[in-house]
Amino acid sequence: MTETTEYLIVGGGLEGLAIAWSLADRGATDVLVVERDTLCSGMTGKSSGVVRCHYGAPSLAAMSWYGVQVFATAAERFGDDMGFRQCGYVVGVGPDNVEPLEANVVMQQQLGIDVDFIDHDEMAQLWPGLRLDDFAALAYEPRGGRGDAHLTGMAFAAAARPLGVRIRQSTEVTALLQDSSGTVYGAALADGTQVHAGTVIVAAGPWSAALGATVGVDVPVKAQRAQLVLVDQGEPLPPVPVLSDLAGLQYLCREPNGEILAGNSDHAAPEYIDPDHYTNRADDSIIEKVIGKLDHRLPHMPDPRISGSYVGAYDVTPDYNPIIGPSPAPGLFLATGFSGHGFKISPAVGRLVADLLLDGTTTLPGVAATDFRYSRFAENAPLLSPHPYQGAGEMR
Ligand SMILES: Cc1cc2nc3c(=O)[nH]c(=O)nc-3n(C[C@H](O)[C@H](O)[C@H](O)COP(=O)(O)OP(=O)(O)OC[C@H]3O[C@@H](n4cnc5c(N)ncnc54)[C@H](O)[C@@H]3O)c2cc1C
Repeated sequence: MTETTEYLIVGGGLEGLAIAWSLADRGATDVLVVERDTLCSGMTGKSSGVVRCHYGAPSLAAMSWYGVQVFATAAERFGDDMGFRQCGYVVGVGPDNVEPLEANVVMQQQLGIDVDFIDHDEMAQLWPGLRLDDFAALAYEPRGGRGDAHLTGMAFAAAARPLGVRIRQSTEVTALLQDSSGTVYGAALADGTQVHAGTVIVAAGPWSAALGATVGVDVPVKAQRAQLVLVDQGEPLPPVPVLSDLAGLQYLCREPNGEILAGNSDHAAPEYIDPDHYTNRADDSIIEKVIGKLDHRLPHMPDPRISGSYVGAYDVTPDYNPIIGPSPAPGLFLATGFSGHGFKISPAVGRLVADLLLDGTTTLPGVAATDFRYSRFAENAPLLSPHPYQGAGEMR
């Protein structure tokens, strides 16, 4: 049996669903999303949901800022607040990273992002529990915070369906289909049927490389292990912002239940995993490291205990920035390699992909679509921050 569709999206995670909604919102409603498992059950389900605009690459900062504005108005736009909470975002650096911080904040302000420097006294008043003496400078985004990637993906799906988008779960693509001229024209499904499509969009996170390989397209995306630790502080403590602690190379934020979620920001020695087979628990050595760093940053936790840990996989590219655009095979479009940024930029990803597919260009403010082109790696022109942080350059 063969089915046809104009747009076939492989992957029912946050990005596939954002793209589906955005296409339909722009009037392209002949869209089919196929997800091998359940919606948002991939890495979207592991997302920390941090929303910050603090990026060195202007296009990425602009996409995040667009995301902030969509999330902040989600209740009106989607009838669902997507779980976004503007608890504030702070990035703090040690003495060796003051210059890049200043340069990045100036660039972000030029893009219209609501960000400024904040001094230690004001920080201490807003968030009395945090130790600050080893930060040489701090920047504050009052409109940053945390969302919920699963809820967000589901809200995109809920908004896309009434517009005509078809979404199918438990539907695995076993291979993409390619004709003798190299054009990708659809996908073969595990049940033996085929879907023929005008355009196939692969939005399959760390599984994208395997799908590309079925038509000889090398998708330079690897699954980098991310270990997260949850800490119960012992009793409710004053709130914390979402904090990128570039002095301690960690990030922390508050879970809706009051626990602290802490993650590693040191990507000097990345570990790669098979995203289908990995132990869903942080290593003891990482847990110990996190406890040490948290004890330092939140010294007044009354009775801290580890309440859990888990592991996810960042779909990383060689420059830690996404690939969004046509692949070398006509008919195959890529939206993958989000490298840990994919939640906050998901509304912009949806719009960018819809713009590129429908118009060949985008009007997203501040975004140069070519920054995310597939060919940049072969051209030896990676997308890098002009003002990288020493010791913490990869993901900002
Ligand atoms: C631990 C962790 C923390 C993160 N924290 C943040 C954060 O704080 N802020 C932020 O902005 N971003 C964060 N991210 C990044 C962000 O969450 C992801 O970029 C985003 O959720 C990925 O969405 P996706 O749709 O690209 O991928 P996924 O959610 O992985 O979706 C891909 C889907 O494709 C499906 N699939 C795979 N193969 C096939 C096939 N053959 N046939 C059909 N379907 C298939 C999978 O089942 C999966 O559901 C984090 C990521 C991780 C892993």
